Amino acid sequence: MMTFIDVILPLPLKATFTYAVDEDMAQKVKRGCRVVVPLGKKKHYTGIVDRVHHEAPEGYEVKYAFALLEEQPAVLPQQLKLWEWIADYYMCARGDVFNAALPAGLKLEFKPKVETHVRLTEDYRTEEALQQVLDSFNRATKQHDLLLTYLNMSAFFEGGPYEVSKQDLLAHHNTSVAVFDALVKRGVLETYPYIISRLSEKENQRSGLKPLNANQQLALTQIKQCLEKQSVCLLYGVTSSGKTEIYTHLIEETIRQGKQVLYLLPEIALTTQITERLKRVFGTQIGIYHSRFSDPERVEIWNKQLSDNPYLIILGARSSVFLPYRNLGLVIVDEEHDSSYKQQDPAPRYHARNTALMLASMYGAKTLLGTATPSAESWYNTTEAGKYGLVTLKERYQEIQLPEVIPVDVKELHRKKMMHGHFSPFLKEKMKEALDRKEQIILFQNRRGFAPMIECHDCGWVPRCVHCDVSLTYHKHANQLVCHYCGYTTPVPHTCPECGSEDLRDRGFGTEKVEDEIKELFPQARVARMDLDTTRSKTAHERIINDFERGKTDILIGTQMVSKGLDFDHVHLVGILNADTMLNYPDFRAYERAYQLMAQVAGRAGRKGERGLVVLQTGHVDYPIIRNVMNNDFESMIHTQLAERQTCHFPPFYRLVNIYIKHRQQRLTESMTALMTAQLTKVFGAERVNGPLQPLVARVHSLHIGMIVLKIESNASFAQARKLLLQVEQLMHQDTRFKSLQVYYDVDPV
Ligand code: ADP
Ligand code: ZN
Ligand code: ZN
Repeated sequence: MMTFIDVILPLPLKATFTYAVDEDMAQKVKRGCRVVVPLGKKKHYTGIVDRVHHEAPEGYEVKYAFALLEEQPAVLPQQLKLWEWIADYYMCARGDVFNAALPAGLKLEFKPKVETHVRLTEDYRTEEALQQVLDSFNRATKQHDLLLTYLNMSAFFEGGPYEVSKQDLLAHHNTSVAVFDALVKRGVLETYPYIISRLSEKENQRSGLKPLNANQQLALTQIKQCLEKQSVCLLYGVTSSGKTEIYTHLIEETIRQGKQVLYLLPEIALTTQITERLKRVFGTQIGIYHSRFSDPERVEIWNKQLSDNPYLIILGARSSVFLPYRNLGLVIVDEEHDSSYKQQDPAPRYHARNTALMLASMYGAKTLLGTATPSAESWYNTTEAGKYGLVTLKERYQEIQLPEVIPVDVKELHRKKMMHGHFSPFLKEKMKEALDRKEQIILFQNRRGFAPMIECHDCGWVPRCVHCDVSLTYHKHANQLVCHYCGYTTPVPHTCPECGSEDLRDRGFGTEKVEDEIKELFPQARVARMDLDTTRSKTAHERIINDFERGKTDILIGTQMVSKGLDFDHVHLVGILNADTMLNYPDFRAYERAYQLMAQVAGRAGRKGERGLVVLQTGHVDYPIIRNVMNNDFESMIHTQLAERQTCHFPPFYRLVNIYIKHRQQRLTESMTALMTAQLTKVFGAERVNGPLQPLVARVHSLHIGMIVLKIESNASFAQARKLLLQVEQLMHQDTRFKSLQVYYDVDPV
C-alpha cells in the first residue's frame, strides 16, 4: 500500500500539498516531521508533515517527497493545533503561520556551529607515553612548552581532559601555528570538529526569591485561589507594586511542580531588564527568545525545547508562543494591555496575548495577565463578563506614593508667548532642579508616526514617497528623507522642487529635535535617546538601558519604549512633552491608549525613595482624561470608555475585522471595494458593514488599498461570520475582472 503525506509549505497558501513517500521514508515519517518536497518545476521547499495516510489523491500525478530531514518531529501536535487555530481565527493561511512560527534555519537544513578542538592522539593518552615524548623534545623547546600548555588547559592530570579549542590554545601560548603543526605531524596532538552551543549556560551568581510584603503575599494567595477555580486571572497592580516579584514566586512554584512557564513581554527592550532579574533567581533554567536573536540561536532554543532537557522558563516577545512546549503549566502575559502584542504585517496578524490564552487552554495551563492599566477587553472580561478572575494591588512597594502629576497648559503659554520650543518654563525649572540634585530624568515624546518632516516655508510643499501615499520622514543625522512604510530613501533637496525656494525647514516634533533642544538648554547634561532609530541593533536597547541604570546618562528621551515596565531607581522627574498628539489620534482607542501611555510613563517616576513628579504638557488641561491621569483614576476612565464603546458598537462589545483589498490599479481597487461592501451588506446587514473606506495610508509599495470594516456582536458566532465572509470573497473572485486583486484580513485590529 502506498503511503502519502500532506505537507504544509511556508507559503501563503491555504491548502496542504500531497506527496508520495518511498518505503523507507514511510517507515519513519510522522506528523510534524520536516521534509523536503518539490514544488513546480525547479523549486523545492522544506515543509512540515500534517498528515500521513494511504489515500491516493486523484486528478493529478503525485510527486515523491525528496527527503525526510529527521525522524523526530520538529513541530509537536499541540503546535500544529495552534497553527490551525491561528489560521482559522485570524483568517490567513497555515503557511503564513508556519513562516512566522519557525526560525528560518528550520526552513533549511540546519548547520550547527563547529569549532576545531585539540586532543592527544590515542597513543599518548598515558602518563608514561607523555613523559617519554616530553623528554624526547630536547631542543624543540617550543613544542615542549606548547604540549605542557595543552596538558594544563585540558587539566589532563586533574580530572580532564576538558575541551580545548585550537584557537584558545594558540592564543594562550602565544605561539605560531608551525609549532602546533609540528606536534600534529609528530603524531602527539590531533584536531577534531566540536559542535558548540550558542546558548549561554553560564551560571551567574544566584540569589533567592525576595520575600513578598504583606500586600504582595495577599495578592499571590488570591491569584492562586482564583486560578484554582478559573483558568485566567488579571492582576491589576499599580506601577511598581511588585508585580514582577509576584510573578517570580508563581514561576518558582510552577517549575517546582515540574511544569513549564511562558513569560511574555510586549517589547524586546523590556526583556533586558527582566532577564537579569529572573536570571538572578532561576539561572540557566530560563531561556530567552525573540526576533533579535540570530537565527541559529533561535534554532538551538527550538531544538532544546524539543529535547528531554528543555528550559523550564521561556521569557520572550510574541513569537515565543510558537515554541514547542512539553508540559506548559503557566503563562504570564506582562503588560497585557500593550498593543505591540498584535502583529501588524505580514500575516498572521495575530494577537500574542489572545494566542497565548489559546495556547494555555490547549495545555490545560493557567494564564495570569498583569498590568497597571488593563486593556478595555481584559477589564470587560474580568468585571462584566466574569470570564477572568481579578486581583488588585493598589499600593506601591514600600508604600511609596504614586507620583504627583502636574499639568501645564501649553495653549495658555503659547498665547502669552511664553512657550519657546518644546519645554514650558515650569518643566525647564523642574529639570534644572533635578539635574542640580543629580537625579535622572525621563522625557516622553509620542511615537514618530507624527514624525519630523521637511516643509517648504514659501509654498508648503512636503516631500512624499514615490511608492506610498505618505510624506517622508526627515532623519536629521543622516540628512535623509525616509519612507517608514517601504524604506524608500532620498537625500534632502537643496531647493523646493515646486517653487525653487531655499527655505526648507523641518516641521513636526520628533525625539531628535528634543535632543537638540536639550543640548542647548542644558549643555552639561548627558542625553540618550531611545526610539526605533537608535535601537536597530541587537544590543542597542541593552546599552541605552544599562547606561541609564548605571547613571552614565542624565536624561533619557524616548517614544513608547520608555513607557514600558522599566525599573530605574533614580528617576524623580518624568516629562510628557505633548499629550495632545495622543488625544487627537483618530481612533476609537485613542483615549484608552493615551491614558495607558501617560500612566505607564508616569509610573517610571519615584520608584524608590521619595514621591516622583510628572509634568504633563497639554493644550487640553480641561479634558476629563487629564484629570483621570492626575488622580490615577483608571476605573473612571475605563468606565466612560466602555459606555462609549457600547453605544458606538466597538470592542469589546463587537468584534472587528478590517478587510483590505489591494491592486496596482486604483479603479479596480475602488470598484471591487464598492462591490464587496454591497455584497457584505446583503449578507450581514448595513449596520454591521462600514465601507468603502480609505485607509489612513491608501497606497503602499505602489499598490492601492481599499478597506471595509465588518462589525460582529461579541455574543454572535464569530466562526459563522468568518465563514460567510470567506464565501463573499470567493464570490468576488469569481468575477474575472477581480482575479488578480489581493484580499486580506486583520481580525481584532488594534
Ligand atoms: P511592577 O512590576 O509592579 O512595576 P516591580 O516588580 O518592578 O513592580 O517592583 C518595583 C521595584 O520594587 C523593583 O525594583 C523591585 O525589585 C522592588 N520590589 C518589589 N517588591 C519587592 C520585595 N518584596 N522585596 C524587595 N524588593 C521589591
Ligand atoms: Zn516651495
Ligand atoms: Zn514608501
